[in-house]
Amino acid sequence: MNAGEAFCGECVCGAVRFEVSPPSRWCLHCHCTLCRKSHGAPFVTWFGVGKDQLRITQGESEIRWRDSSEHGRRAFCSACGTQLFFVSSRWPGQIDIVRALVDGPIDRAPSAHVYVSYKADWVDIDDGLDCYPEEYQSTRQRPG
Ligand SMILES: [Zn+2]
Ligand SMILES: [Zn+2]
Repeated sequence: MNAGEAFCGECVCGAVRFEVSPPSRWCLHCHCTLCRKSHGAPFVTWFGVGKDQLRITQGESEIRWRDSSEHGRRAFCSACGTQLFFVSSRWPGQIDIVRALVDGPIDRAPSAHVYVSYKADWVDIDDGLDCYPEEYQSTRQRPG
């Protein structure tokens, strides 16, 4: 992709579609229990952008939000159940987007694993990326 080019994503049923304007702030693999269980996955890859960089282009009325922790809310498609977004009062102005919803490239690769202290026993991390036991705020928030 060309630098500065928007990238698009959608849920599995296609009801919800969105467009993201780069640059993203970070891209990380999250091993926390909430991610693993709500996505039915060994871990979940997210990237973060400013809320004003995300534009819902279709299916806004299908998006449901639920409280997933004291500080966090998660969005999913009510038609197909695909997990879509995460926001937190800890990082106001930021929205986290599930990387797998974007079929094509984005402007960065995943840089680290976070919440590794909650990692599933049956998952081995052998990609050489840095691992953090919990949140690594400076990774998460650092632009670039
Ligand atoms: Zn859907
Ligand atoms: Zn997580």
